[in-house]
Amino acid sequence: MSKPEPEQEQQLGLLERRLKRERQARQQAEKLLTEKSVALFDALQSSQSSQKKLELALWASQESYWEWMAHNDTFQLRSFSLRGQSESVWQGSPIDLLSHVHEDDITNLEFHWTLAVHGGRDRVEIAFRFKVRESFQWMRLRGRVLERDEHGSALHVVGTTKDITRERKAEQSFHLMASAFSSSREPMLVLSESLEINECNDAFLQLIQVHSRADCVQRPLTAFLLDPDSNLDMLRTGSQVRFESVVTNAEGEQVSVDVSIARFETQHQSSSYLIATLRDISERKSNEARLQKMALHDDLTGLRNRNGLRDALEQVIKTNRQFILAFIDLDGFKQINDTAGHEQGDAMLKRIADLLTAEFSNDNQVTRWGGDEFVVALTAVTLDQARNMCSRVIELIESITLDIQGTELRLSASIGIAEYPLHGESIDTLIQNADAAMYQAKTTGKGRVNTYQEGLLESIKERVSLLSDLRRAVSHHALDFYIQGKYDGSGVLKGGEVLCRWHSSIHGMVSPVVFIPLAEAHQLDSDIGLQALEAACDYISMMETQGLSIPLSINISANQLLDKEFASRAAAICDSCDIATSMIEIEITESIFMRDERSAVRSLETLREAGFSLALDDFGTGFSSISYLRKFQFQVVKVDRSLIRDINHDSKALSLLKGVLAMLQGLRLDVVVEGVESESYIPLLQDCDVDLMQGFYFDRPMPFEQFMARQHAASTF
Ligand code: C2E
Ligand code: CA
Ligand code: CA
Repeated sequence: MSKPEPEQEQQLGLLERRLKRERQARQQAEKLLTEKSVALFDALQSSQSSQKKLELALWASQESYWEWMAHNDTFQLRSFSLRGQSESVWQGSPIDLLSHVHEDDITNLEFHWTLAVHGGRDRVEIAFRFKVRESFQWMRLRGRVLERDEHGSALHVVGTTKDITRERKAEQSFHLMASAFSSSREPMLVLSESLEINECNDAFLQLIQVHSRADCVQRPLTAFLLDPDSNLDMLRTGSQVRFESVVTNAEGEQVSVDVSIARFETQHQSSSYLIATLRDISERKSNEARLQKMALHDDLTGLRNRNGLRDALEQVIKTNRQFILAFIDLDGFKQINDTAGHEQGDAMLKRIADLLTAEFSNDNQVTRWGGDEFVVALTAVTLDQARNMCSRVIELIESITLDIQGTELRLSASIGIAEYPLHGESIDTLIQNADAAMYQAKTTGKGRVNTYQEGLLESIKERVSLLSDLRRAVSHHALDFYIQGKYDGSGVLKGGEVLCRWHSSIHGMVSPVVFIPLAEAHQLDSDIGLQALEAACDYISMMETQGLSIPLSINISANQLLDKEFASRAAAICDSCDIATSMIEIEITESIFMRDERSAVRSLETLREAGFSLALDDFGTGFSSISYLRKFQFQVVKVDRSLIRDINHDSKALSLLKGVLAMLQGLRLDVVVEGVESESYIPLLQDCDVDLMQGFYFDRPMPFEQFMARQHAASTF
């Protein structure tokens, strides 16, 4: 090979250098490119991560991203998920968007949107209802104008939206609650845990009669309630309490309230507050008090009634170891009611109630037990003092007179007293015993005070049982009528007395001395008298069929004699049995004159006019027998057996009897001597020229059949 020319060598070197330079430049450019690529890669990486972060932030706050571009008038809505893959995108025109908006919110939305796009307002914030799957959700849309054209119209707006349905609902119900609270007619309070008033409504202000909230807010609830502490203590353990209390209002008046307080936790349970309702129950309370008063007091007199007494006595027993109970029953009240009418009767009861209240003013325990009965509890007095107080009350009652059409009506009272705890350790026993003592006072003469004695109740119970048994016997015509003969000086049967007998299935044979007064006290005597008369008539007609014609006597009590109907009824009975009234002798005792002398005389005259023969019974036992002989002309006088006792060996007794008989004979009265028990009396009585004799010597009272058999046997007729 040939050696290169020097010119060629020079060109080669130039090329080599150029190549080297180019290689270097390319290497530099490559390095720069790599550097730039790395930088670009880094930049890209970091922008993607902040985008991601933004999306995450939007997802977390449950906001969606939106933007609007003027050039195509399109909304784009994007919402994100945690990982970014379920991002949803909605795109549409404002018209598309509005088609989902609630019609009531469209105007508002358009208005705000126009302000933002054409009105120069950069910020938009609107809430509206948006239809999502058939139902409206509340959306809040916030945004900002990013770019405007030269006329100020928005070109690009971006922002976020959020579903605020839950917040809206909560807000709405809060508003509802708040308006319910403030407009409630029940007084209501919001209280702090320390029971300080945070909020109150108008009804509460009205309740406590103040005009401004400032007068109660920040003050403790306890400042308004009377003695609330024990009830409020319960709030420490429970979440609610309810109790009744009293609120004192600004006027100083007390209003009864029903308080209920309940604890509520705030939404995040970081604190709690209390809501109190104070319902005004003063009307209910006053109704209750009225009902209570009605339940415990008597309408007519205003005194306590039975229930009230029980209440009062329970109190008395708590504070007093001893007290006396007086049971007062008016005597003669029925007559006032019957004669003067119920209005006068009521007025009289009020008058008596006032009198008792005034007399026993020390302890206001006067009670109307019922009808014309009153009960008084006397504290701090002895039995003697109580008796004196009661006697004085009887005198005061007796001094009251009532003039009804010229007739003067008077009252009296029978009072029974019993001492606690001596005569009864329970209220019931004490009342019962005082009542028993009263009952005895009434049945032993009325107008008196009687103190309870051991066994009294039992004997009264016995009496009550006897009475009901007697009632039955009388109504069933179960009484027997025995007969006892009346004989002349030579022992010839001239008449007989019909005497009542009662054989009780419970009490056995009961003496008329026991049951006749009982019958008189309970108006059964009239029936007994009429039954005796019927028996007498029957006996007379039966005897007549056997050829024996003697008059029979019956005993008539004062009550019955004073009954205006009696004479005509008695005559009617005789008439119906075809018995002449002259065959019936009516025996009465002087007690009839004591009740009402004028009426007694009138009744006797009516009976005599009807043809009955009248006899004064038990002559010599009373105080004024002789004076009554002047008042009425009896046909017969029955000398009581006490006047003939011992005449066979007591000359004084004999002289007295002789004197009495002489006097009666002087008055031309037929005389019957009762109680002729022994033969030794007969000659003495024959000497005295006695018309008739009656007594065990001749016969004892016996059943009619027996009586007739005996007469047959003796063949005295
Ligand atoms: P009285 O009218 O004085 O009746 C006479 C009483 O003397 C009768 O008692 C009679 O059994 C009793 N007696 C008769 N002879 C003798 C005697 O020799 N010695 C003694 N010791 N007593 C004798 P009785 O039957 O027990 O009646 C007592 C009273 O009861 C009667 O007294 C009368 O007041 C009343 N009584 C009886 N039956 C009736 C009646 O049907 N109606 C009324 N209202 N009272 C009657
Ligand atoms: Ca008699
Ligand atoms: Ca008699």
